[in-house]
Amino acid sequence: MKLTTALVWIVIAQGQDHQVKQFKVTILSTMLADEGVGEWGFAALVEADGRKVLVDTGARPETVLDNARDLKIDLSQVRSVVLTHFHGDHTGGLMTLRSEMKKRDEKALSETHVGKGIFYSRPLDGGGEGNSMIAMRPAYQATGGKFVEHDRAAEILPGVWLTGPIARTFPERNWSGSGKVRTPGGVVEDTVPDDQSVVVTALEGLVVITGCGHAGIVNILTAADAQFGHKPVHAVIGGVHLFAAKDEQVDWTADKMKSFGVHYLIGAHCTGIESLYRLRNRIGLSRKTAVVGAVGADFTLGQGIHAGRVAQ
Ligand SMILES: [Zn+2]
Ligand SMILES: [Zn+2]
Repeated sequence: MKLTTALVWIVIAQGQDHQVKQFKVTILSTMLADEGVGEWGFAALVEADGRKVLVDTGARPETVLDNARDLKIDLSQVRSVVLTHFHGDHTGGLMTLRSEMKKRDEKALSETHVGKGIFYSRPLDGGGEGNSMIAMRPAYQATGGKFVEHDRAAEILPGVWLTGPIARTFPERNWSGSGKVRTPGGVVEDTVPDDQSVVVTALEGLVVITGCGHAGIVNILTAADAQFGHKPVHAVIGGVHLFAAKDEQVDWTADKMKSFGVHYLIGAHCTGIESLYRLRNRIGLSRKTAVVGAVGADFTLGQGIHAGRVAQ
């Protein structure tokens, strides 16, 4: 009896510690394009041990659809989507992608994982609604799509996790503007409470995929560090919203990232080009291990970064 209980716990422990062996992430929307077209937005396809999830959907309705076609990536075989937060430059492609891929496979892109707060109203100063996700919810559901809201970390595929909303341990304030959000507790400054990232657990360490990183990349890595037992951060891929940050903030961020062991960095989207190179120098990364993200660039476990022509 005791032996059985011990075995059950071993099985549970192994289940919580699933390590992805084959992993690739390919960028499908960002400013710079090696293939297809660039835009102010973000999207990336994550492939982990043969399973796939689309992280964000770009800004313009057609960008990810067209770029995936140019890159010969078939999104009709991808069932799940993660939206990192409510901003239109990450959510603008969802409806087009769902409608187009549904023609090929009813289940394609039919399940979308979001962080709690993504449907909160964002009242605009001049009146009106600043959150397009509110109108998108019934439209997506009408296609047979389902939103799954997360208020904490969750494993959506074996070894592929959502952070859920991130504790703001450090005052990074990595967002633009001074919008308002209507939370259950009242109307407050919009800190993008719904912002979440994807964390993949691998033997080499954690691979963290951010959208805009509005929660702050240091806050995100701090949360991942606590959640996953202080494993080193093998790679950070995505936007970290430092394009307008002062040098001192970029240096502070770099020092923290270095302390988490960041070994690869694809700084896409709102990372900012100057900030990416400043991070690279200060963390001590190289031309091979830290690049500006481009459409078509990928990171593969065991191989590193394929930057493409223009960002190499
Ligand atoms: Zn954003
Ligand atoms: Zn963004």
